[in-house]
Amino acid sequence: MSTMNGLMKCHEQTSHFVVVPLMAQGHMIPMADLALLLAHRGARVSLITTPVNACRLRAAADHAAFTGLLLRLVELPFPCKAAGLPDGCENIDLIQKPDLFGPFFKSLHLMAGPLKNYLRAQPKSPTCIISDQCMPWTMEVSKDLNIPRFVFHGPSCFFHLCTLKLVQHKLYENVKDDRESFTVPELPQRIEVNKLTAQRFFDWPQMEDLLRRVEEADDTSDGFVLNSFQELEPWYIDEYRRSVGKEVWPVGPVSLLHKETGSKAVRGNGSTGIDQVSVLQWLEGRERGSVIFISFGSIAKTRLLQLVEIGFGLEATGLAFVWAVKEAEENEEVKRWVGEFEKRNWNRGLIIKGWVPQVLILTHPAVGAFMTHCGWNSALEAVAAGVPMVTWPHFSDQFLNEKLVVEVLRTGVGVGVKMPAFHLTEVEQAVVGREKVEMVVRRVMCGGEEGEEMRKRAWELGEKARKAMEDGGSSYENLSSLIGYATGLAANRGVELQ
Ligand code: UDP
Repeated sequence: MSTMNGLMKCHEQTSHFVVVPLMAQGHMIPMADLALLLAHRGARVSLITTPVNACRLRAAADHAAFTGLLLRLVELPFPCKAAGLPDGCENIDLIQKPDLFGPFFKSLHLMAGPLKNYLRAQPKSPTCIISDQCMPWTMEVSKDLNIPRFVFHGPSCFFHLCTLKLVQHKLYENVKDDRESFTVPELPQRIEVNKLTAQRFFDWPQMEDLLRRVEEADDTSDGFVLNSFQELEPWYIDEYRRSVGKEVWPVGPVSLLHKETGSKAVRGNGSTGIDQVSVLQWLEGRERGSVIFISFGSIAKTRLLQLVEIGFGLEATGLAFVWAVKEAEENEEVKRWVGEFEKRNWNRGLIIKGWVPQVLILTHPAVGAFMTHCGWNSALEAVAAGVPMVTWPHFSDQFLNEKLVVEVLRTGVGVGVKMPAFHLTEVEQAVVGREKVEMVVRRVMCGGEEGEEMRKRAWELGEKARKAMEDGGSSYENLSSLIGYATGLAANRGVELQ
């Protein structure tokens, strides 16, 4: 073993990482995976959460403990009452009324006190905090306790670089009309956006303070950890590193950590809307690449008008499909319509109500394409599975993630959504008609030479993703480098390591 490897192993064995995700599925899931990856390298990890969210992470944490990993789930109280939230409203997907998003985000910093108490009660100081970008309050914790802090970026690096360029060129301030189209400056490709499709997190009315704190927490961090891989968006990662002048470690796709059916199935939530055996039975025996999988993540809700168009579009393709319809989307009308639709399509369609084991489905050979809202986890999970996409962004970073998939990677076709759903009326939200759904699904799943090339590109990217995560691959090495860097930094700051 080389001296460098020896040093690295020593760092890995002595380090203690404190991982702090935002309480939303799209943030908790990749950060729990990151925590597991660190624990697999021998690090001790405290994964910070709250009681309601701990139930969703428990299966993964128990499995980790069972296999001897040093991963501990740390439950801090979430101050629902102080925040004016109903009891137990500890996750974005539990928020029932839009006017509660503000209080939820504004009260997150109340977790700082309990986290400091927990860390002070440890026999020795931890190596570092890896904080979700949406948890800027960890800045004060790391400052008070003199612990290094790294920021975990949820979305694609492409999203982060594009929004950074817009900030640097003052386009958020100087473009007056939200819907006016303009080009993101200084990119190798022409990427057209408007202020609504290139919106940053917290660039929302009455959230200015939080936006400023996120910027400050980024500026004062010791570097960025990305759920991406170097070979996926090389120019964008290199340029981002250069632009921020800090260390940047792409360590993903983190979902590739899950190799067994069991761990794929419980990822994010122990209570799936369907058990893994039934899904696998349904997929088994279907031809390779013959099924389209439709799911729009953990937050986006599709209304009946739009569900109907998707349903008729799918029927018209004649293809087999697995379709995730969220419980939150269900009312009596939806239930009735979905029930009839299910009966008509019993022999070629599986509708899953509630939480679906997404990675389990995506990685099944029968799945040929993924209709996705382009939440970054979903898009990257499709990349990792080598599956092309039908892209249907709903809000936030999803629009820029779509641009990356469709215009840069060319492994997807968009259904043509131009505006975040929040800015449309209920009728306007049913923007994509059945003919369009049918046409785009066919282009990706069947579509002659164009479709074949797209599927080939997707497959090749999937191969690259797998290699990046293997021993010696770029993401594997980046994680080693992060562990070594954090440990060295902590030692320099006089943090006594365990
Ligand atoms: N997910 C899942 N089952 C579901 C819905 C979502 O496993 O029924 C997972 C999905 O695999 C991804 C995450 O939840 O890891 C959603 O994150 P993403 O960034 O794609 O979208 P968001 O939910 O944040 O909009």
